[in-house]
This record gives sequence, structure tokens and C-alpha cells, in this order.
Amino acid sequence: MDVSNQKKFFTTLGLSWEHAVSAEQIHANALHIVSSSDKGKCISGVDALLLQKSESTKDMSLMIRIADCTPIFFYDTKNTSIGLAHAGWKGIVGHIEKAVVLRMIEMGSRMSDIQIAIGPHIGPCCYHVEADRAHIFSQEFGEDVIVKRDSNVFVDFDACLTREALEVGVDEKNIVRANVCTYHANDTFFSCRRNPKNFGEMIAVLGFAIV
Ligand SMILES: [Zn+2]
Repeated sequence: MDVSNQKKFFTTLGLSWEHAVSAEQIHANALHIVSSSDKGKCISGVDALLLQKSESTKDMSLMIRIADCTPIFFYDTKNTSIGLAHAGWKGIVGHIEKAVVLRMIEMGSRMSDIQIAIGPHIGPCCYHVEADRAHIFSQEFGEDVIVKRDSNVFVDFDACLTREALEVGVDEKNIVRANVCTYHANDTFFSCRRNPKNFGEMIAVLGFAIV
């Protein structure tokens, strides 16, 4: 990836690219608690990162790469901690979102303070799956995350992630969704499914602004 674009993006946001931490992203559900010694590192074997603000981490950011998978942003205003997860279909059925919330609670967050933003990803308009994968989703999240049109079956990631957040105890008013489909919005987003042979990647970033 061309990191010059990343640097521009971070500068625009007022964040330090040099102090950002990224995840290897292996489509699993492990997470890593970021510390100040991780500045500039890519953490292997994880799809989610958590960071608590302190004197030594106050200029740090989290970054993941996406191109149809879902970026999930977590924020606790009171405990001043942030999380970022890369959730493709395996991460979603592996309940990575719940794992992050429960770890935030362990780190001192109150459930009522946790905010979740579900970023742009491939929508139920375009995420066509075979019956075996649909079955896995309906087992984990219920039948109503499955959308049937004609003889095709689609999965609604927003429905899965919203249900999981509510079930773990996150307040409904603290959950927001981008509600855009990366496959559809071809003038705005890259999409792995739309261009499987030659797709670009986007980054999702959450961090503490340098003030
Ligand atoms: Zn779509």
C-alpha cells in the first residue's frame, strides 16, 4: 500500500501516522491491548485493537485495512478508551464485536458509556452467499439477518452486529451505522467483491488527536 495517502489522511485528521498501530488481520477474533511500546507496529495474529488513553498513549491511533469487510469503531468517553475491529464474515460469526466490548468492560468501562459505530461495508443488497454460509449466520444471529431475493440469499452484517451489540448490553442509542454499501458506492469505496482481481484497500482509523 502507498503509505503517502495514509500519511495525508492522518494529517487531515490531526493524528500521528508514526504512532499508529495496525493489525495483521487474519479473519479471526483475537484482540490486542495496545501499549506505548507498540507505536508504529503491526500486531500479528489479531483483528482488533484496544487502546486506553494515558500520558504515554495520548498521541496514538489505531488503523485497520478494509475493502468490503466491516470496520467497527468503539469508544468510551468516560474511561477514554477506543477500539477498532476488522470484521469480515468470519470475524462476525466469531463474535469479535462482543469480545471487544467484554474486554472494554474488563478494562473498566461501564456498558452504558460504550459507543459503537459500524462503518461502511458490503451491504445486504450485494453480500450474496451460498446456503451453507447463510446457515452459519442464521445459527449465530437468527433468521432475520438473512435476506432472500428471487432464488438468491444475502446476509445483513448491520443486522448481525446491531443484534450482537444489543445482546451484550450496549445501549441502542449508542450504536450508529454508516448504512452505505462498499460494493454499490463505486465512486467512493474500493470493493473486493466488485473487483476481485485488482481491488484497492481503504483504511479505517480511530485515534487520539494531537492537541
Ligand atoms: Zn450493495
